[in-house]
Amino acid sequence: MPSLSVSLNLNGSVGQNGTNQPHDVLAVKNRLADLGFPVTRDSLVNPETIDIIKLFQSIIKGKTVIGGDGKIDLDGPTLKFLQAANAPQWLEMPKGSPGEGFINHDNQQGDNHDFGTNWMIETIQAAAQLYLNAHLSSHPSAALIQTNDLSKPRGGITPVHATHQTGLSCDIRLPRKDGQSGGIVSTDSKFDRDAMRAMLKAIRNQSKYEIKRIFFNDFTLITEGICVSAAGHDNHAHIDIIPPLQQ
Ligand SMILES: [Zn+2]
Repeated sequence: MPSLSVSLNLNGSVGQNGTNQPHDVLAVKNRLADLGFPVTRDSLVNPETIDIIKLFQSIIKGKTVIGGDGKIDLDGPTLKFLQAANAPQWLEMPKGSPGEGFINHDNQQGDNHDFGTNWMIETIQAAAQLYLNAHLSSHPSAALIQTNDLSKPRGGITPVHATHQTGLSCDIRLPRKDGQSGGIVSTDSKFDRDAMRAMLKAIRNQSKYEIKRIFFNDFTLITEGICVSAAGHDNHAHIDIIPPLQQ
């Protein structure tokens, strides 16, 4: 995966109402494809191309729903981040394992709702390492961090969430005292609050990316300042991250 800055040497704008010179379009689509975004490597600007440019614009602005004008202007912020060494990559969440401290629930379910930015994925991976050290090492039968629903393979609107459109959001299923996850709410006696506290602290404490907010309706953990309440978050925690500064 790319981690060097590039110069696309565009002669004009690309995307919605852009000048869309074929060489420029090909350069943009090649770069997006190199970053993992689902575009074809050609010089055509079609609605799918514009949707992916909007996805990219939404990601770098830290939005969790799709916005943007779908156009890459010369010297505009979209082109700058597209050329940056830390441009967001679009990836499928790895399946995870006990040794990594997390499990991808979508992968277990055969659900493809698990695409997102490398920023979100690296946040979970780093948090899971902290959770391994801070909690699982002393509580080996506790549940792993279990992720659910980042975004759809091409991002965009998903019927099951108000946000989750841009790969900057991820849900965490509730750990249970039997070492499994999910199927409960925070008031359930099976809920392993100590494990959840350790998971959410690990997510907050990892140093890869900054956490924007954590929604989860558990009075104890809210009182501890670990999360905030939001409708619909009795049976899972919802994480949003903040984009890094462009490098
Ligand atoms: Zn969510």
